Amino acid sequence: MNYCISTLCFDHFVYIKNHWINRVSKKCKNVKIYIIDNKYINNYNIDFNEYAWYDYIRLDTNINIINLNNINVVYIDMDIIIEKDIKDIINLPYDFIISKEIGENKSFPQECSSILGFGICSGFYVIKKESIDFLKKILNNMKNKTYNSYSDQVNIMNYIINNKYNISKETCILDGIKYTNNIIEIDNIKICVLDFDIITRDPIINKNQYGNHINIKNVGGINSFIRYFYEPLESLPLTCRCNKHHLGDYNECIHINMRNKNNLINK
Ligand SMILES: [Zn+2]
Repeated sequence: MNYCISTLCFDHFVYIKNHWINRVSKKCKNVKIYIIDNKYINNYNIDFNEYAWYDYIRLDTNINIINLNNINVVYIDMDIIIEKDIKDIINLPYDFIISKEIGENKSFPQECSSILGFGICSGFYVIKKESIDFLKKILNNMKNKTYNSYSDQVNIMNYIINNKYNISKETCILDGIKYTNNIIEIDNIKICVLDFDIITRDPIINKNQYGNHINIKNVGGINSFIRYFYEPLESLPLTCRCNKHHLGDYNECIHINMRNKNNLINK
């Protein structure tokens, strides 16, 4: 199935841009990449002081790309490092596909994830044209701040819990690995919330995931983050928040052990 990839590039992402484009071009063959940068951003008349203003711009741009080119669009944040060709994910039989947020029923925004049992992470999503009407409604709610936020995660999750929906689990096999996705049926479309191990947030070990979504602040900034493009994950600092005093976390890290255990198994 034909598709293109878009990403948002502003502020410190300009230092990541070339590393990111090279990586995506190497892993995903013959895909056109759209960079949503200042020349798009400056056209918008929205409140740039408001949290997640960029969510509105990227969703609007993604919908325009589909309408103009009649092609599926995959939006990927620049803090996601793509590890494998994502075409298998796009070919899954769902209208809108989105990655899963860390934290299960405590994911942001918790008032929604406590009901759904999980949260969505808009750092990676696939739009097919069947989901355009649904996403235009979401975009409109974002613009009108129906749920007091520009955030796509807040708007999509609130829209779901405030409308008629059904959730089920479906399994799939991607690249020989079995995954379990959450499927939400709403407004006559099927939304797939990907198994956390397909696009992983705060990755600890290599499980053959398609993408590693890394919190740049947690790993100590841009220069440290760029190392994740070139060095093996297990040799790099952990991306979790545990015991990072500058982030206000004083918990003992449980992930060091997970990594050590995994290394023992591999040996
Ligand atoms: Zn940890």
